[in-house]
Amino acid sequence: MTSENPHTDHSNTENQNVLTEDRRWMQRALQLAQQAEALQEVPVGALIVLNGQVIGEGWNQPITGCDPTAHAEIMALRSAAKHQQNYRLPEATLYVTIEPCTMCAGAIVHSRVKRVVFAASEPKAGAVISNGSVFDRPEMNHRVEYSAGVCEAEASAMIQAFFKRRREEKKAARQALKEQACKE
Ligand SMILES: [Zn+2]
Repeated sequence: MTSENPHTDHSNTENQNVLTEDRRWMQRALQLAQQAEALQEVPVGALIVLNGQVIGEGWNQPITGCDPTAHAEIMALRSAAKHQQNYRLPEATLYVTIEPCTMCAGAIVHSRVKRVVFAASEPKAGAVISNGSVFDRPEMNHRVEYSAGVCEAEASAMIQAFFKRRREEKKAARQALKEQACKE
């Protein structure tokens, strides 16, 4: 895998600039993740940047959209491709708050995105460094660069808080049902 600074041939200043830029865009991706959370969806946000401009944004919405493919990355890819009027997005960078799954990593390869930056890794579904390495497979005809761990603490905290809240809500709902049953 590559580190946060994949361009080892560049100067430290350039690496620092890339990292600053990555953090700035990841903050936007974290805001988009909150849009998913507002819909009671697992909070994941993504955006696509080309030449310093956002060309597509998305957030996770499979339940709301009755669409198993409506992950944040797919939504961002669709929006960017439409914006560019091009099914391929060479030279673009995709930012996402959680490590992409197999489906999204596959779609990213198809889109010819140049680089992917993600915040937190996903030990179960992550298909880039955790439970698979789709971008490093030699048979792929397009090589996607990637950087992990940008704003990782913030992204992890957001997802952990979401699942904790959801567990508490389920517990409260079960408790309420029990109390109801006792009264009847
Ligand atoms: Zn996905």
